[in-house]
Order: sequence, then C-alpha cells, then structure tokens
Amino acid sequence: MRLAGRGSVEERLAAEDLGTAKKILCREPWESYYILRRGILPCCHGSRAIAPLEDWKTAWNSPAMQEIRSHLAKGRLSPYCFDSTGCPLVQRHFQEIQQRVEETQRQERWLATRFPVLRTMNRLLGHVPGKAYGRLFRALRSL
Ligand code: SF4
Repeated sequence: MRLAGRGSVEERLAAEDLGTAKKILCREPWESYYILRRGILPCCHGSRAIAPLEDWKTAWNSPAMQEIRSHLAKGRLSPYCFDSTGCPLVQRHFQEIQQRVEETQRQERWLATRFPVLRTMNRLLGHVPGKAYGRLFRALRSL
C-alpha cells in the first residue's frame, strides 16, 4: 500500500534504517498532560501552564500543545521546552552547545598561538575553516 506523498512502507523503513528519518525528541506531550490547580502542563518538566485549569478538556489539542508537538516531531525542542530549564533534555542540549563553544574557543586559541596567519584567514573566511576542522577533529576522535 502506498500513502500519498509519503513513499511506500518499504521506502520509509529503508530511510529509517539509514538513519535519515527524523526521530521524535520527546514523547511526553503525546502520552500525558498534567492538570494542576495552576493550569495545564504538557509534561512534568513544564515551566508554565499552557491553559487554565477550566480548559482541561480542550487543552489536549490546543494550538499551544500542537506547536510543542510539531517541534518535537521534527526532532527539535520547542520554544516552550527552551523555557523549561528543569527538563533533562533541555539541560543536555545546553550542555552540548556549551561544549561546542568551548571546543571552538580551544581550537581558535590553539590556532592563534601556533599559526597567526591561519587565524587571520579563518576570521576573514567567517570561521568556516575552523568549524570544518572542528567537525573533522570530532569525527576522528570518535573513531
Ligand atoms: S520540556 Fe522536556 S519533557 Fe517537556 S515537552 Fe519539552 S522536551 Fe519534553
């Protein structure tokens, strides 16, 4: 059976096997929501209510909930998630960004001390060579 615009089941399974399919980042907003006195939360780590308590019947499919789900379904955090800094997924995301920034700074310092000409060229080329070097360095280190 073929679904319009989505490819056959075999094609989708093959794409998943190749790791090209987008994975849902977090399933919480599809599996549960929290009805509290202070309002409705899409997950246990939610920072603020997306609807008042009285709207508990309509909050499940509200635009706010759909927006959170649409971001997560594409494999990325939603703006709501970014506000929920108590969430372990959000914390891990920020830690990864921090690590990348520190690694880039380390590489730039290394370049600056050893190759001032390369550092200047890197700056002039918008730091593209430095980023490419960083990716290559990380790939080689993970082998
Ligand atoms: S804040 Fe965390 S637990 Fe809540 S929906 Fe976002 S990623 Fe999922």
